[in-house]
Amino acid sequence: MLYREMGKTGDKVSILGFGCMRFQEINGRIDGQQTERQLLQAIDSGVNYFDTAYVYHGGKSESFLGEVFSKGIRNSVKIATKLPTYLVQSRRGMDEVLETQLKRLKTDRIDYYLLHMLTDFASWEKMKRLGILDFLQKAKLDGKIIYTGFSFHGDRENFKLIVDDYDWDMCQIQYNYLDEYYQAGTEGLKYAASKGLGVVVMEPLRGGRLVGRIPMEVEKIWSRAEIQRTPAEWALRWVWDHPEVTMLLSGMNEEAHISENIRIAGEAYPNSLPKEELAVVNRVKEVYQNLLKVGCTGCRYCMPCPSGVDIPNCLGIYNDKHLFQTKRTKIHYFLMTSGLVGGVPTYASRCIGCGKCEKVCPQHIEIRRHLKDVARTMEYPAMKQLTGLIHWGIKGYDLVKKRKNSFD
Ligand code: SF4
Ligand code: SF4
Repeated sequence: MLYREMGKTGDKVSILGFGCMRFQEINGRIDGQQTERQLLQAIDSGVNYFDTAYVYHGGKSESFLGEVFSKGIRNSVKIATKLPTYLVQSRRGMDEVLETQLKRLKTDRIDYYLLHMLTDFASWEKMKRLGILDFLQKAKLDGKIIYTGFSFHGDRENFKLIVDDYDWDMCQIQYNYLDEYYQAGTEGLKYAASKGLGVVVMEPLRGGRLVGRIPMEVEKIWSRAEIQRTPAEWALRWVWDHPEVTMLLSGMNEEAHISENIRIAGEAYPNSLPKEELAVVNRVKEVYQNLLKVGCTGCRYCMPCPSGVDIPNCLGIYNDKHLFQTKRTKIHYFLMTSGLVGGVPTYASRCIGCGKCEKVCPQHIEIRRHLKDVARTMEYPAMKQLTGLIHWGIKGYDLVKKRKNSFD
C-alpha cells in the first residue's frame, strides 16, 4: 500500500480509502459477517481511511463501523463522516447530528468531518447562516472533530469560492477520466491542492460505468494497448497518476475487488503513466463521450421517488441501450421496470414531474426531461396495459391461493 499526505494536516493516509456506502446487504440489512471480513482484509493490507456519512445505509453504515472499530481497531484507522447539509436546519441540529454520529461510531472524535454535498456557494452560505462556523470551531476545541472538509458536487467556480472562504483541511470531489472538465475537475483539483487541502476523490469508476460490461469499441482499445490492464486498473491508475490527488475512495464489497484494488494501490505512484498510456485512456474517453446519454452515477440520492419511478435503474438501462446498441435492452427494461420482478412497477412514464429528484441530484441531471426520453424510446405503447394485466393476474392468483388455503 502506498501512502500520501492529507494536505497540510500531514496525516499519512493510504491512497486507497474504503467507501462505506455500498456494503453487501441481505434482505435490506448489512451482511455483518461478510462486511466485517472485508473491512479487516482492507485494514490488514494497509487501508487506514474509512469514509462514511450520516445517511449511508440509512445510518447503519456508521453504526456498523462503530461495532467493528470498537474491537481494538479505532486508533489504527481514520474515520471520515459527513454532516448532512440538506437535512440540518439549525445550529442545534448540527450538535445533535454530531452527537448521534459519535455514539453510532462508538468514538470520542471524528478524524475528518465533512459537510456533505455542498453544491454551490449559496449552499455554503446557508450553512454559515445556520451557524456552521461556530459549530466547527466549538467541535474542534472540544476535540470531537480533528479536521474539517466538504464534499462537493457543483461547478468549478463555486468550488474555488468555497475553498477560499474557510480554513479547510481537505475536500472530496468527483474525479475520473470522464470528468476532467466536469464539476471541480482537474482545475479544481489543482486549485485545492495548491491551497494545502488534501483531496479525496469519489466516483473514480463513475459509479461502476467504466468497468463491468463495457462497449465493444472500448474493449478493442483496451485489448490493443501495449500494456494489459483491467478497465478498473486503467481508471484507478489514471486518477492516482495526479500528484494532487491524496486518495481515492472505492465502495468495495467483494473480496476479489478489494484484493485487486490493494494490488493496484501498491504500484500507483504519481506521474507514473507514460504519455502513450495516457493517450490510450484518452481514446477510450472519446468513445464514452460519444455514447453516454446521461451522466447518472447511480448514487440513488434522488430516491425514493414519490411516484415510484426507479430513476437510476431507468437511466442506467437507457444508457446501456446507447452504449451497447442492442435491441434486448427494451426487453430488459420491461422486465426490470414493469413490476414483474420486484412486484411494483417503476417505469419512467410514472413520473409526474414534481421535480423533487432534480433538487438533490449531485450531477444536476435534468431527470424529468431524460425520463420523458426514456419513456418515449423504451416503453412499448401497450406497456402500461400489459403491466396492469400482469398485476391483475398476480393479485387474482394471490386471492385464489388465499381462498384455497382458507379451505385447506
Ligand atoms: S420528477 Fe418524476 S422522477 Fe423525479 S421525483 Fe418527481 S415523480 Fe419522481
Ligand atoms: S439521477 Fe442523479 S441522484 Fe439519481 S442516481 Fe443518478 S446521479 Fe444519483
